[in-house]
Parts: sequence; structure tokens; C-alpha cells
Amino acid sequence: AVASCTACGLCRQRQQSVFGRGSNQPLWLVVGDGPSTQDEAAATPLSGDTGALLENMLQASGRAQQVYVTNLVKCRAQDEQGQPRAPTPQEVAACRPFLQRQFTLLQPRLTLALGKTAALALRGPQAQASALRGNVHQAFGKPMVATWHPAILLGRPLEKRQVWADLCLARSNDGNNAGNNAGNMYSSSGSNEAARGA
Ligand code: SF4
Repeated sequence: AVASCTACGLCRQRQQSVFGRGSNQPLWLVVGDGPSTQDEAAATPLSGDTGALLENMLQASGRAQQVYVTNLVKCRAQDEQGQPRAPTPQEVAACRPFLQRQFTLLQPRLTLALGKTAALALRGPQAQASALRGNVHQAFGKPMVATWHPAILLGRPLEKRQVWADLCLARSNDGNNAGNNAGNMYSSSGSNEAARGA
């Protein structure tokens, strides 16, 4: 079980594991890197302001009720100073069976990767070196689209235009033609700068 897992070193600093939330018949599996301190306290992934922004993104996509949200790793990662950090490839690999199990049980049609760490881990090292954003990749044998992590997006609001493009790409590749008439909440002017977060 995740709660008692000791497969990687993140178990040593775990207050509680953070498994996932959302529909049990999702169109999209939404995957971030790992739980924050706030997520751990709430035992829910992408909580607080980050979660509110993710909800806005998903509402704009028209898929808000058809997603399951989780992370590459189920336990919070921190550095020696106690600051949040991205999970290492070894930690991601150790936790992969839980993510694979979630995918197998939920059978989403598409994975939406939040941020560079999640996108690279899901796409895999053997994938062609195409840009993470703006292309449809494969994860678990199904389409995978990368976008900004909402925690990064909180400090970079101009990139919301890029997020809208990513969400449109995801919508057009999840095999669901219904509900594709959602409004564009992200149509304000934005930067063309290449995304650093994805
Ligand atoms: Fe186990 Fe995953 Fe937590 Fe590591 S992050 S201890 S593999 S549940």
C-alpha cells in the first residue's frame, strides 16, 4: 500500500502519502511531479492556490468533471534545508508502479503532464527529442500532452495563453468530441517565449 511504502527514501520524511483525487472514469489523467507541504497536510494533490488555478484550467478545457489528478510520486520531496524539490529519477522510478496501477484501473484516454519533470518522466528517455509542449507524445500507450505546472504559472500569468493552446491540443486528442465548446478563459495576450516549465 502507498501509505506504508518504503520503496524510496521519501518515506522517511512522509507525514502521509498523497494518492490522488477525481473521477473514477476520467478522460484525462492529470499528473504533476509530487505533493507540496500543503498537499501533504490536506492529503490531496494540487491543493490551495495551485489547485484553484488547475481547476480554472480544467474548467476552461471543458473537462473539469472528467479528470483524475495525481503525481509522479506519492510522498513529498524536500532538500536538506527542508525546501521543496522535484523528485529524482530514482524516486520517480520507484513510485512508477503506483502510477501505472492508477492508469490501468482508471483507463484515461489521455495524460496531461503538468510541468517539465512530469512530462519528461512520462514521455520516457527513449522518446524522440521533440519539444515537450506543442506535441502529442505517448505515455502508457496513450496520448500525452504537456503544459505548465500551475504552481509555476501562478508567478507567470502571461503563459496562460500557452496553457490554453495546450488544453486545446489535449481536448482534440482525447477522443471525445462532445463538450469541445468550452469558453476560452486564457485568451488574453501572452508571451511567445518558449515555456520553461514544460
Ligand atoms: Fe513509496 Fe512512492 Fe512514497 Fe517513494 S514516493 S516511498 S515509492 S509511495
